[in-house]
Amino acid sequence: HSGAMVTSSSTLHRDIDEVLLTQEALAARVAQLGRQIAADYAGRRPLVVGTLKGAVVFMADLVRAMEPTPEGLQLEFVRASSYGAGTVSSGKVALSGTLAAADVEGRHVLLVEDIVDSGRTAVALLEHFKAMGAASVALVSLLSKPSRRTVPCEPDYLCFEVEDKFVVGYGLDFDEQYRSLPYVGVLRPECYSSVD
Ligand code: 5GP
Ligand code: MG
Ligand code: MG
Repeated sequence: HSGAMVTSSSTLHRDIDEVLLTQEALAARVAQLGRQIAADYAGRRPLVVGTLKGAVVFMADLVRAMEPTPEGLQLEFVRASSYGAGTVSSGKVALSGTLAAADVEGRHVLLVEDIVDSGRTAVALLEHFKAMGAASVALVSLLSKPSRRTVPCEPDYLCFEVEDKFVVGYGLDFDEQYRSLPYVGVLRPECYSSVD
């Protein structure tokens, strides 16, 4: 009975003010972008690098939508932290992970981000891959908040622009919660005001 599923996820759903992007809208856009990226990267052995943990859900869907799969496509992950438990960026970007310069050198790197907000994280990572000797770097992001930029950053591939509201779901968290929601929604302010 479907009632069981509704009950088990209801505590998360209750904290959502508004659904901005439904599961169906996400799937349709990711499928479209995946085919476009696959065509652009045919013959280039792309190294698809996702940022942990926010981009994991998007990346899992995106790479399977990259049809026909470019030969030599590989997946890697990096960790980029700037937020902590609040909803306002600290301004500092800490990078970590096991990605070595030898893995990146000469590769066409496709950085997969969950959201570009100030732009600092994506710019820092793109610079990092260039310094590691990537043949090219490009940015694909699920979401972008252009009104929040503090450094110039324009994703090469973007699924959706969103307004300046704190969003969760489809990989995006607040304090490590809500990542498993299948849609992108606006978190009720009372759910984070106590932490900020
Ligand atoms: P930036 O370096 O562009 O300011 O920040 C990028 C990171 O900030 C994202 O990868 C994400 O972790 C976090 N972030 C920015 N805006 C939001 C948002 O609305 N919701 C969530 N969950 N994280 C956000
Ligand atoms: Mg991120
Ligand atoms: Mg986060």
